[in-house]
Amino acid sequence: MDNDCLFCRIVAGEIPATVVHETDTTLAFRDIDPKATVHVLVIPKTHYADVVALAQDPAAAADVLAAAAAVAENDGLTAGGFRILFNTGAHAGQEVFHVHAHVLGGEPLGPMLAIR
Ligand code: AMP
Repeated sequence: MDNDCLFCRIVAGEIPATVVHETDTTLAFRDIDPKATVHVLVIPKTHYADVVALAQDPAAAADVLAAAAAVAENDGLTAGGFRILFNTGAHAGQEVFHVHAHVLGGEPLGPMLAIR
């Protein structure tokens, strides 16, 4: 655990979150500032800074994707469709450097990017 990491502290129970799904290796909780009707963050419990670091551990990456799919299923997103994204680095505006999949849905999401 990284004591300076917000999401490690959520995993440790030191900061509250609205948890919607949990496995031995992953935690999913609602985004505090939702950008869609459904906006859930799925994280590995182990600290990886971003998706590039997570990809070095294929089993952990698979667990995150499986958890994201379960969240979409549980929140009723699979019929209408949904989006999973990993903001990575400065150009993507990554704010929290503990990798997280954004699961977004519950309404038409519009174009993939706000620009263009
Ligand atoms: P990113 O820009 O991809 O790093 O996304 C970070 C996300 O974390 C943003 O969508 C924030 O709204 C969200 N966030 C920040 N703090 C919390 C928190 N305490 N609980 C839940 N979501 C949070």
